[in-house]
Amino acid sequence: MIKTVNLHKLFTTDEVETTALNGVSIEIQPGEFVAMMGPSGCGKSTLLNILGLLDNPSEGEYYFFGTEVAKMSERNRANLRKGNIGFVFQSFNLIDELSVYENVELPLLYMKTPAAERKKKVEAQLERMNIMHRRNHFPQQLSGGQQQRVAIARAVVAEPKVILADEPTGNLDSTNGLEVMNLLTQLNQGGTTIVMVTHSPHDAGFAHRVINLFDGRVVTENFHV
Ligand code: ADP
Ligand code: MG
Repeated sequence: MIKTVNLHKLFTTDEVETTALNGVSIEIQPGEFVAMMGPSGCGKSTLLNILGLLDNPSEGEYYFFGTEVAKMSERNRANLRKGNIGFVFQSFNLIDELSVYENVELPLLYMKTPAAERKKKVEAQLERMNIMHRRNHFPQQLSGGQQQRVAIARAVVAEPKVILADEPTGNLDSTNGLEVMNLLTQLNQGGTTIVMVTHSPHDAGFAHRVINLFDGRVVTENFHV
């Protein structure tokens, strides 16, 4: 389970202080598919980055599957992230200098997965995401929808417990967006916990539950049936 207690996040830049999170307490059960919504600037990405162990809160507690991680060092966070958490971003965030195959292989290289097993896992994801035929191409040679499928393959190749997606369909047309939502749904049905930030009520409809944020706080949590 993912559980936060009274998370605060304060950013200080050029002597300007911004309270991005102002007391966020949430619980997400293993296997849930949760959507996070709210106006621009309300703290969605900040919360997702903390949940994904990319950043620490200024205050509060965060339990990631039982381990308190709010005050972990960058190095320990990075170790826990490996193999446990996969990220998908609006802008895909692929590495332009690496081929499709190499982008997907990267998390397994970080985890020092043996070569034969790496090959098997990368190829399985390329097949599943229907992108095998573009394995030797580079990100800039692909359409947005194809790039996002590569990014999802990279996020899931190490079989993480949790996938965090920050507006994953934000740069896609409706056909490609629907394909991405179907892939996320399939992963969730396979047992992966998913937390997705979205502006789209249509995309939020794929989730079990919507958490609404406003001004750094949770305002409502609506359950879908
Ligand atoms: P959302 O994703 O909901 O649009 P964010 O979480 O990105 O919102 O941002 C919440 C607030 O925190 C905004 O006011 C934003 O400007 C500020 N913020 C986010 N990241 C930083 C940062 N690294 N440094 C300073 N301020 C930041
Ligand atoms: Mg954001």
